[in-house]
Amino acid sequence: MIVVLTGGTGGAKFVDGLQQVVAPEELTLIVNTGDDLLWWGLYVSPDLDSITYVLAGLLSNERGWGVTGDTFFCLQSMERLRQPIWFQTGDRDLAVHLLRSKLLAEGKTLSEATAEITYRLGVKSRILPMSDSRLETRIGTPAGDLSFEEFFVQRQYQDPVQSVHFAGAVDAEPAPGVVNAIMSADAILLAPSNPITSIGPILAVPGIREALRDARAPIVAVSPIVGGAPVAGPAGVLMASQGLPVSIAGVAQAYRDFLDVLVVDVRDANAAEELRATGLNVHCTKTIMRTAEDKAELARTVVSFVAGESVAYAARDQS
Ligand code: GDP
Repeated sequence: MIVVLTGGTGGAKFVDGLQQVVAPEELTLIVNTGDDLLWWGLYVSPDLDSITYVLAGLLSNERGWGVTGDTFFCLQSMERLRQPIWFQTGDRDLAVHLLRSKLLAEGKTLSEATAEITYRLGVKSRILPMSDSRLETRIGTPAGDLSFEEFFVQRQYQDPVQSVHFAGAVDAEPAPGVVNAIMSADAILLAPSNPITSIGPILAVPGIREALRDARAPIVAVSPIVGGAPVAGPAGVLMASQGLPVSIAGVAQAYRDFLDVLVVDVRDANAAEELRATGLNVHCTKTIMRTAEDKAELARTVVSFVAGESVAYAARDQS
């Protein structure tokens, strides 16, 4: 079983590649829910949705979020009704938010609701929210404390970041199956998602980071930082706000207590050499995913690399 820790857009691209080269039953996805929000009274989980849509073959590649070919009639009607529309939800997308909200209102947990939705959409991989408890990523800015979606979507990440915290983390527990998946995995991959606000919340759930430290499988992260900057989005400002360099060294530092291998882009070959001097195993390859073939190629490289590592690990465990 390959276990992947993942967030939204960067993660969805990587998972799209993985599904082209790994049997769906062999994939378990542990997904960030720190961005979840109540929108028009509905429970929306942007990262669970992106990963679900990509595995159901429904993700819009043009937008990187939502359902391909979706319409936005409800959004237009809500605008006429003077409701906020900065967070865009398509009509087909809305059906998932409605069903999830209904299942939660009936008393189902987020994991149970996710299992039901993914089953009905024909997803054969296992998608686990990181936690059934509410853990909310909060970004401290001069304009006040913002939810991640307010910071990212509404305000287009223009506010200087003063702090990042995960409200509810102390009381959160890993969702059923999460720790077991990590402990019994053959390989654990960290998608090139935002290390602070996509992977960070997963690691903030008490018990998950500890499980990663104890896991017997090799842990391989793909860097979202290429050539000293994120490929897209606010990962750079968020890393800097946490005192991390915006570089592959910063990504390595974010995961330093459990990471075995960092996969970085060929553009970072020099920085990779420096990082290797610290004792970390660093693997250089092409990591920019523009086409379906780019995604498959990166997934193939990571999976074959991990297969080699697993053999080395098994030998080490036996000796
Ligand atoms: P966000 O930061 O909230 O937008 O969402 P995510 O955590 O899902 O993904 C964004 C991260 O994915 C960013 O830090 C990007 O640098 C990274 N990313 C996006 N596309 C690519 C790509 O093609 N290759 C690599 N290596 N990273 C990518």
